[in-house]
Amino acid sequence: MNRQRKHAVLYILVAGFLIAFVGVVLFVWIYFSSMREMHQTTRKLYEQPYAVANAALALEANLYQIRGSLLYASLIQADRLQLAATVAFIEAREQLVQQKLAVITHSYSGEQQQVAQLKQALAQLSQVRDQISQALKTARYAEANHLIETRWIPRFSEVARLNELVLKTANQRATQYVSESQQRLEKHTTHGLMYAALLLGLFLVVGVFVAWRIYQLHVEADKFAFTDFLTGIANRRHFIHELESEIRRSQRYGSVFAFAMVDIDHFKKINDQYGHHAGDLILQNFCLRCVSALRTSDMVGRLGGEEFGILMPMTDLHEAARVIERLRSEIDHSVMSDHGEHIHYTASFGLVSTSQLSDQQGLAHLMKMADAALYAAKQQGRNRVFLANH
Ligand code: GH3
Ligand code: MG
Ligand code: MG
Repeated sequence: MNRQRKHAVLYILVAGFLIAFVGVVLFVWIYFSSMREMHQTTRKLYEQPYAVANAALALEANLYQIRGSLLYASLIQADRLQLAATVAFIEAREQLVQQKLAVITHSYSGEQQQVAQLKQALAQLSQVRDQISQALKTARYAEANHLIETRWIPRFSEVARLNELVLKTANQRATQYVSESQQRLEKHTTHGLMYAALLLGLFLVVGVFVAWRIYQLHVEADKFAFTDFLTGIANRRHFIHELESEIRRSQRYGSVFAFAMVDIDHFKKINDQYGHHAGDLILQNFCLRCVSALRTSDMVGRLGGEEFGILMPMTDLHEAARVIERLRSEIDHSVMSDHGEHIHYTASFGLVSTSQLSDQQGLAHLMKMADAALYAAKQQGRNRVFLANH
């Protein structure tokens, strides 16, 4: 029984370990997948507003460079060569400006009207720049200077204002996304933890249930392996095993125990007269009587059919004879009821004590002596206790 219990505990521990392992794997999986998703989303969210902000800043810087070039060319009254270099530089800057504008148009998630206005203002600025370039080419420096002061710079201010608006909105968006993604991250983590805890709890409940069932099955299996199905007492195998252990103890420590072999009298007749079912009830009734008449340290086992063994540890022959005689008498003075029928039955007992055995004599000899005593009890008319001879 103990060995089986140990196995059951082992199964429970293994099941517990597996459950905990699955729970931890699950938790780690949920946690890291939600973290990964959050990182991806956050990156995407950051990219757009920052791309717009960067483009807006670069656009402004390029426009300042254009402005600087125009002013420089008009102030130094640039010659053809200087003018060609300035025009090339301005064209390159304008190309960059158009690229930045394309980035803003593509990524801007603010008001699209702002971008449209910016585009328009830039187009107008280019027109004025064309006029200035024309004036410079024909050496009309004063006119160029005048155009810069009166037309280019106010339009440039308008472009800068609109660009500033785009930049501001992009920055606002970026800040908003940062806090939103932080909130989402917190929400995801909390949800992930909650689901993991829930699943872990579920696994634990199922695991404990499974472990409990395994334990129950073990206990049930024990019952079938060690007990007699009809009477619920020890079966032959278990009883003989205990008897052997007791003999070994007795040989080692010199302790005395008594053993009785019992056989119900004329059981065949009872079966024939009252039926097999009544016979079964008598077997159960006999066992109940034995259990109530004996001490808890004593043991009753079914050796087969209507034959039983009684093991009484730490009991000498004299004391055992007294107990067994009382049991025999109780059975003899009672009747068993089955469907209104009162059935009287008796039993014969062959009693032996380890004090009657020599050191070399073991289980086989003990059984032989008890069997001989039982046979003698039968021979002498049944319903009696016969003590074994040496
Ligand atoms: P004796 O007094 O010499 O012991 O006679 P007996 O009739 O008791 O002896 P016998 O060994 O001839 O008969 C035993 C009978 O017990 C035969 C068998 O049918 C019956 N028996 C064995 N096991 C069971 C059981 O589980 N239930 C019932 N009802 N009868 C059983
Ligand atoms: Mg028999
Ligand atoms: Mg019998």
